[in-house]
Amino acid sequence: MSSIYLCAISNIKSGACDQDCSFCTQSIKHKANIAHFEKKSLQAILEQARQASALGASGFCLVSSGKSLTPKLLQQVCEAALAIKKQDLKLKLIACNGLATYEQLCELKKAGIEAYNHNLETSESYYPNICSTHSWQERYNTCLHVKKAGLDLVCGGIFGIGESLDDRKSLFSAIASLEPANVPINFFHHHPSLPLKPSSIDANEALEIIKQARQKVSKAKKIMVAGGRAQYFGVGDYQFFENGANAIVIGDYLTTKGHSAKNEISELKKQGYSITNCKA
Ligand code: SF4
Repeated sequence: MSSIYLCAISNIKSGACDQDCSFCTQSIKHKANIAHFEKKSLQAILEQARQASALGASGFCLVSSGKSLTPKLLQQVCEAALAIKKQDLKLKLIACNGLATYEQLCELKKAGIEAYNHNLETSESYYPNICSTHSWQERYNTCLHVKKAGLDLVCGGIFGIGESLDDRKSLFSAIASLEPANVPINFFHHHPSLPLKPSSIDANEALEIIKQARQKVSKAKKIMVAGGRAQYFGVGDYQFFENGANAIVIGDYLTTKGHSAKNEISELKKQGYSITNCKA
């Protein structure tokens, strides 16, 4: 049986993003009725980190809405990282704060961040269909900065946004060229405020995508089933671990509910999966 890596996420700044990504409820353009807040309190972030650690998560990701890492946000993430490190919770700290410069990423590293998540989302040629306010190349460049800064790169995509099979192939080749440590696989979660139609992907196709990720990005230590998992796979349905995945996001996602983390962990153990405490 495989050893499973668990990652929990903390939404530290939610909504009011001026970008127009067509799959994202956090864009102001779509006027979705979601929670909006500018800054989660340090106390609330620390509480989430303690809970994640108590549940057995190895990764803890500080995620914010917005195009890029602003000076204010950089300060917030660094403060949170330093405070979490002081607690000695044995969590690998990951940041996910949009486009970032090499210098900003070095600052994060100094504060204790070990990995940076920046997804390419889809193929370079399809990207203008889902976002007109920044380019795919800017995203790719941020991934290069992550590598240069010596942080682990977490880089994946989102599926079910109208992309073709060729787009998926091209996305996985681009991701593989960056040699990420972890590849999150997200599935589009439809919301009535969004311009995108509901995804036509079913559970079998979702498994195919996960299998493809494992084959094409073969050097990645982790293939992580992330956003949208609850749509296709119920608690106790872990077929994706037999198809190349070895990591999941537990608990709630940014703006949507996930499975209860407690139930999920007892189910994983019941089915004989061990939970890794390896941070690599
Ligand atoms: S930049 Fe990020 S937060 Fe903003 S709309 Fe796009 S995906 Fe959503």
